Amino acid sequence: MSTDTSDTLVSPESNIAPNGDVIFVVGPEPRKLRVHSAILRYASKYFENMFGPHFAEGQDLGQNSPKEISMPDDNATANNEVPSRLKPDVMFHIAVAADKFDCAVAIKPSNSLWLKPDGVEDIVGLGYLMAAAYILDDATAFSEITLAMAMRHNESYLLLVRKIDCLLDYVPWERRNVLRTKLQQLLFEGSRDAGWYDDEKCTCAWASRHLLAHAKLQHDESLRPIDMHTISQALEKLDCIKDPAVPAPWAPCIRAHHDGPYYRVRRVNRLKEFQKEANGLCIDCVGGGGEGAEQACRIQHPRKAVSD
Ligand SMILES: [Zn+2]
Ligand SMILES: [Zn+2]
Repeated sequence: MSTDTSDTLVSPESNIAPNGDVIFVVGPEPRKLRVHSAILRYASKYFENMFGPHFAEGQDLGQNSPKEISMPDDNATANNEVPSRLKPDVMFHIAVAADKFDCAVAIKPSNSLWLKPDGVEDIVGLGYLMAAAYILDDATAFSEITLAMAMRHNESYLLLVRKIDCLLDYVPWERRNVLRTKLQQLLFEGSRDAGWYDDEKCTCAWASRHLLAHAKLQHDESLRPIDMHTISQALEKLDCIKDPAVPAPWAPCIRAHHDGPYYRVRRVNRLKEFQKEANGLCIDCVGGGGEGAEQACRIQHPRKAVSD
């Protein structure tokens, strides 16, 4: 590996960081990739060493005269590929570095890959991603990540706040409470699908039998307010739950016809409505003084806005 300070032009598709202080000249048929050494150092131990104080590559770096580093044995295509996944804490440090060196724009194309909450199970990992999305001002990712935090986790966010002290103002405390309340409302609505009470013409206790059967189902399936599923787990359960087992009447009803109650159809519609209205935090509202404040929001708020 050798170094140079040539300012040879880099093709637009290889200009990964337009203000980068390093140009890799990669492969036997050299291809140039312009990058920022600070970001690479956060992402990789290898580059941490390469651009550290003990190697020539780390000396006199600057964006005005990017240093060429020859890597003839490496593969330019592989080096130019964006890794599909970064550890959340690495992503957080990259965001901090990108913000510090004012090159957040350079890594923006990769945000859609690196800021995805899918597959990040632990709350601290999601916290790092949320902080990265906030620092990089990515409204879509911030909303998706905070929604995942509210839907998939029950534990206190205090653990996060202790770990990453800049998070206190952004964790979705209230959003999760609102979603939990809406979930209980959804269950409550289901309990009255056969009506509120039995009218004087009903001799079979139609509504009462259904109401009690629904309450028993909620109890048996651990879907009472006190049963602490995550919101996602409760929704999954509701998606495939059986109908309440309604006991037979003691006496035949003199009413000719009782309708429904079509539990499944109604439940599916309510679940769809819940999913449609459930959203994460809006970065513009969080940063701009709250929902309803005068600012242009980049994510679409649901029709019935859920308050922060
Ligand atoms: Zn009846
Ligand atoms: Zn907003």
